[in-house]
Amino acid sequence: MTEDPTVAVSDTQKGSGGDPLESVIHSLLRELGEDPSRDGLIRTPSRVARSLRFLTSGYRQELDKVLNGALFPVAYDEMVIVKDIEVFSLCEHHLLPFFGRCHVAYIPNQKVIGLSKIPRVVDVFAKRLQIQERLTTQIAEALMERIKPQGVGVIIEAKHLCMIMRGVEKQNSVAVTSHMTGVFKDRESTRAEFLRLVRERQ
Ligand SMILES: [Zn+2]
Repeated sequence: MTEDPTVAVSDTQKGSGGDPLESVIHSLLRELGEDPSRDGLIRTPSRVARSLRFLTSGYRQELDKVLNGALFPVAYDEMVIVKDIEVFSLCEHHLLPFFGRCHVAYIPNQKVIGLSKIPRVVDVFAKRLQIQERLTTQIAEALMERIKPQGVGVIIEAKHLCMIMRGVEKQNSVAVTSHMTGVFKDRESTRAEFLRLVRERQ
């Protein structure tokens, strides 16, 4: 993150008095055996508070506003797929990041959604404290509810720092979760096509 002198001034003026999250981080540093008043840490509580608020900003976003009426009537009824959407989230058990790629597909039922909106939907749910399984389901269910398509498929492949950094798993292990609804659940050929399209060019 870049050091912005104007931000530094406002942080100093604000001190540690106002923001309860900042004082929690201040205490956290002390509990960890650190000296929160040393040079390198003096602005850490305000940085961490701001960073955490950004990383959990999905709680404060409304899906309807994000989608902003970007639904379009269309006669197209083939699979729409957006793959390799970057996902960054925080595991709710350790507050450590998990990150990777999300693949989303649906088969329209007279309506499509602007393609750029799909990564935004992923982000609304990723910027919360999550477990990968629930994140996958929430994305699928939200799209199912808003687009009312014939079906939705969502796959997330992610690495979890809480597993990697603590040595619980090997460095390269990837957790894969999927959630299929409608025709993706009921029709083997649809699911197979989705999986084939996801694996292509990887
Ligand atoms: Zn964890």
